[in-house]
Amino acid sequence: MDYKKIAISPAVVIGAAGLFAATATFAQTAEIGTWAGFRKCAVSFTFDDNAPSQVSDAAPEFDKYGYRATFNLVTNWGTNGFQGLADKGHEIASHSDSHPGGTMSANEIASSKQKLNQSIKQKYGVITLAYPNCKTPGDGQVLQNYVVGRICNASWSGGSDVMGKDGPNNWAAVPAIMTGSEGTSDFKGNMQKALQSGGWVAFLTHGLQGKNNGNASYSPTNLNDIAGALQWANQNEKDVWVAPMGHVGMYIKERKAAKIEASGSGTITVKLTHSIKDNVSDYDYPLSIRVKYDGSKAEVTQAGAKLESKIDGGYVYFDAVPNAGDIVISAEGGTGPTPSSSDNPVSSSSGTVSSSSNPGTGDSSSSSHHHGSHHGSSSSSAGPAAPSSSSQGITSSPSSSSSGPDAIVASAFDANPASAYVDASGYITVINAQGQNITVFNSLGHVVRTTKGIGCLQKVYSGAKGVYIVRIGNKAKTVSIK
Ligand SMILES: [Zn+2]
Repeated sequence: MDYKKIAISPAVVIGAAGLFAATATFAQTAEIGTWAGFRKCAVSFTFDDNAPSQVSDAAPEFDKYGYRATFNLVTNWGTNGFQGLADKGHEIASHSDSHPGGTMSANEIASSKQKLNQSIKQKYGVITLAYPNCKTPGDGQVLQNYVVGRICNASWSGGSDVMGKDGPNNWAAVPAIMTGSEGTSDFKGNMQKALQSGGWVAFLTHGLQGKNNGNASYSPTNLNDIAGALQWANQNEKDVWVAPMGHVGMYIKERKAAKIEASGSGTITVKLTHSIKDNVSDYDYPLSIRVKYDGSKAEVTQAGAKLESKIDGGYVYFDAVPNAGDIVISAEGGTGPTPSSSDNPVSSSSGTVSSSSNPGTGDSSSSSHHHGSHHGSSSSSAGPAAPSSSSQGITSSPSSSSSGPDAIVASAFDANPASAYVDASGYITVINAQGQNITVFNSLGHVVRTTKGIGCLQKVYSGAKGVYIVRIGNKAKTVSIK
């Protein structure tokens, strides 16, 4: 990457990103990314009506990149196959109990959530409701139970289908663009609008052309269009955050409500808090943070647990959960920058910052820091939302190959310095694979993930328990997710 260097006063706050605050004698600048990984826009894919093809055909396309989607289920139609998707970090959400022809009743708004929470286990529970037939019930009833209520195209009633950085005007009316024979096949054009405006766009898909769609016969979409959309998103990984609708909703609400304060010199303490209380969610989705930092090594912990972090362009980047304890950044025992010169364009002084609006994220996203969940590139783009495991944003990241029983040593790759292992939160993680092709195969020999090594530490895949083969360059290693 070539970042243009610009000199600024250390006291100046850079970036349009979110909130920041500085306190104490040794003030530090800390910012919350507008989007996870300091990306430039967010994209959500939603699927309605329990189509078997969503499990068998659509979800695997997302899993290739570690991306997560939202599946809105009618509880009376069964949840067959969808727990497996939840286990991979996809969002399972409500589309009512009975798919009424008229407006949903208050009873179904609440009961469909309760039933799904009983039948599907997922980290954040059921937090999104998609209205059958696009018919919006009372806002209050929806928002007492859900983070997000989803409508269809806002443009059908004169609104904008692409939202701004702060989401919709009304969280009970979050728009999604209908795809397929009754809608659009232009995923890319709509994502480009979101990218250009720094906003959020969502899509609404039912069944897939020529596939087993069950009750989801309306407006079938060509699977190739979805595959192409995901490929484009992955090619623009450093700028495009793909994540489920409810997760993006949580991120925006937390970001808007959060306070962040950084203080100290040498060792920096960051306090990240919010006071949202609406009985719907704990709002504990990890936020992407960067703090100005002069050092070349850093260790970041929250409440004593190590966070993945990355130094880039005069900042240290990490994801942290609000209200989950003090975050401490210290030089001791930290991980240094990657050896590659390209990774650390700004090595120097505090007065120099990258002018890129997205300095850290780019590869960083993929790399070590964030995201283990968030994104894709790194792995998964699901964002902080890591797959179902418990500690996403705060997972402890093994900084070396020696962690854990599944760790493998570099010597297994002979002269290849790369190494792979499964980390504490269940991610297949690769280190020192800069520039090499990485492929993850499942036990059936199917490719579940391909990506390019970016050096440093890189989460590449999280999925069902089992044995996987990780190929890096021309070497391979077996690991297992437990
Ligand atoms: Zn429906």
